[in-house]
Amino acid sequence: MTNAEMIWKYQDAENEFERLRKELENTPERQKLRKLRRVLQEQSDKIKGFEAGLKEKEEQIEADAAKLEALLKDYDLEQDDLNIMLEDEECTAEELTESRKAMEALLERINALKKSITADQEWTRSTEAAIKDTYSKGAKIKRDYEAAKTVVETEKMERQPIIDKAERELKMLGKQLSPEVLKRYETIKKKHPNPVASLNDNRCTGCGMSVSMTAVRKFTAGSELVECENCGRLICRREG
Ligand SMILES: [Zn+2]
Repeated sequence: MTNAEMIWKYQDAENEFERLRKELENTPERQKLRKLRRVLQEQSDKIKGFEAGLKEKEEQIEADAAKLEALLKDYDLEQDDLNIMLEDEECTAEELTESRKAMEALLERINALKKSITADQEWTRSTEAAIKDTYSKGAKIKRDYEAAKTVVETEKMERQPIIDKAERELKMLGKQLSPEVLKRYETIKKKHPNPVASLNDNRCTGCGMSVSMTAVRKFTAGSELVECENCGRLICRREG
C-alpha cells in the first residue's frame, strides 16, 4: 500500500471513529437525558429560591407580630388613661383630644401592620403551594430521567464495543504510518478536520485553490506526499 493510500485510510478510519463517538453522544435519548437533567436542576434552584424567600418572610412575620403585640398593649394603656381622664373632672378638653389623637395614631399603625402581616401570610401560603407543585412535577421528571438513563446505559453497552473496535483499527493504521507523516497529519488536523485532500483540476479539494506545477507533478508521480501551499493539507492521490 502506498503512503497516499495509507493516509487516506487513516483519515477515513478517524472520521468513522469520530462519527461513531458523536453518534453515541447525541442519540435522541442522550439529548432527552441532558434536557431532563437541566430541568431538574432548574427546579431544584427554583425550590431553593422559594425556600430562602419563605424563611425571610417568616422572620418578617414574626418580627411584625411582636411589634403588633407591643402596639396593642400601648393602645390598651392609652385606652385606660382616657377612661381615667373621662372620670377626672379636672381633665381639660385639650388633654382628652390629645389622648384620642394618640389612640388614633396607634390604631392606624396597628391596622397597617395587620394588613402587612396578612399579605405576608398569603404570600407564604402561595409560595408553599408553589413548592409543593414543583416537587410533584419534579417527581414525574425524575421518573422520566431515570428511564432515559437506563436507555442511555443500554445504548452505551451496545455501541461501546463498536467504538472501541474503530479506535483499535485507527491505532493500528496509525502505527503503519511513518511517525513524521502522522505528526504532520495531527498538526494539520488542529486547523482542518480533514487534513488529507486530493487534486481536482489542479486545485486542492480541501481549500479549492490552485496548486503549483511542482506540486501537481509530485502528485501525479504519486511517490511522495505533497502539501497544499495554500492551506497546508496533505495532497494525496485517492485510489480505488
Ligand atoms: Zn489546500
